[in-house]
Amino acid sequence: MTTLEQITSCMDAYDPEALAVDQARAVVRAFITPVATNERLAVRSALGRVLAEDIVSTLDVPAHDNSAMDGYALLHSELAPEAETVLRLAGSAYAGRQFEGSVGKGECVRIMTGAVMPRGTDTVVIQELVQAEGDSVRIPAGQKRGQNRRLAGEDLAVGKAVLRSGTAIGPAQLGLLASLGLAEVAVRRRLRVAFFSTGDELCSVGTQLAEGEVYDSNRYTLYGMLSRLNCDIIDMGVVRDDPVSLEHALKTAAADADAVITSGGVSVGEADFIRELLGKLGEVVFWKIAMKPGRPMAFGKIAHAGNAAHFFGLPGNPVAVMVTFYQFVREALLALSGRNDDCALPLLQAPCTAAIKKNPGRTEFQRGILAPDDHGQWRVCPTGAQGSGVLRSMSEANCFIVLEHGRGSVKPGEQVQVQLFDGLV
Ligand code: AMP
Ligand code: MG
Repeated sequence: MTTLEQITSCMDAYDPEALAVDQARAVVRAFITPVATNERLAVRSALGRVLAEDIVSTLDVPAHDNSAMDGYALLHSELAPEAETVLRLAGSAYAGRQFEGSVGKGECVRIMTGAVMPRGTDTVVIQELVQAEGDSVRIPAGQKRGQNRRLAGEDLAVGKAVLRSGTAIGPAQLGLLASLGLAEVAVRRRLRVAFFSTGDELCSVGTQLAEGEVYDSNRYTLYGMLSRLNCDIIDMGVVRDDPVSLEHALKTAAADADAVITSGGVSVGEADFIRELLGKLGEVVFWKIAMKPGRPMAFGKIAHAGNAAHFFGLPGNPVAVMVTFYQFVREALLALSGRNDDCALPLLQAPCTAAIKKNPGRTEFQRGILAPDDHGQWRVCPTGAQGSGVLRSMSEANCFIVLEHGRGSVKPGEQVQVQLFDGLV
């Protein structure tokens, strides 16, 4: 097993006190060991799971050449090159039924979408272009050989690798599996993710706030983000800032989960006793990441009672929780769940409507609203207050404005990078 120390000792300029976002991401990626247990599920139940086998086509899909449109099937060489042609109707071909007749010289066949191309035809002319009167079908000039015909195997051909192990199963993959006639597939098991909030000031919803308390919102955003990732969720509630409660909670979580996420308690003033506890349970590094929001974060692995879990100690501030989750935890959990594709969130470019003050030397994740202007040009505007405690900024936004590490202030109209919230699985 590779240790965090082995990973970080190979990195140029690794400084846990001022770690660049990309470096932190690279350490996390290198340290993740995916879960290995599989199960077989009915295809529908596999939605949102990760495929655990390569799927190779055993069929041609479609199985036969067939018509892509309602119209008339004919042999292209029967048509006059530059004039209209009148053909005789020899019958009709329907989807799902064998066409019993034959198509001779000067003939065509009425054909429905999905019907197998009758032997002796290679082209379909859509019905809207044709004048049909009784048995006589008038075809205008200008038809292309092979038009409106779907070829056997054009979607999937026998022996073709269709889906790779490690692929996320979404609606298209479900349909693809079904089009091969598969009723079951092998998938990785769901991740078990335990989380709790830390802080003596936290109050659970449904109870009265006492002086100096705040409601615990982080467990709700975490619940939402983890649900979208299709994890099995173990909500461990609020844990007080005392070593005995924390040790108990960490041990319980480490014994039971693939990943443990905490919020709060990793900032400088608070880190000391949690650092010591985590050191006893495994290998955890404490970072000050060169980013805003989300500077303090702990990462590693903790073990108890024969089980090991990846550990993410997120900051306490509500916006920082969401930013660090989307920038580090999301990708890590997807890799842990067995995904082998690049799960990084796409970065788009858009002009920014407002000035943003920024110093080079850290990555910033401002909350923005991407929308078209009056001319249909997409541009992004920062939401108002950007404090790391202002959760409203996340709720109003539909994207992060990602201001990269080396960048300085942004002038109105300058291009910035944008990461859309929509589609965050
Ligand atoms: P900490 O990282 O524990 O120092 O917390 C930083 C800030 O985030 C403090 O203002 C906390 O009150 C706040 N905070 C921590 N945990 C939560 C939580 N679960 N829900 C809402 N606010 C929190
Ligand atoms: Mg705290």
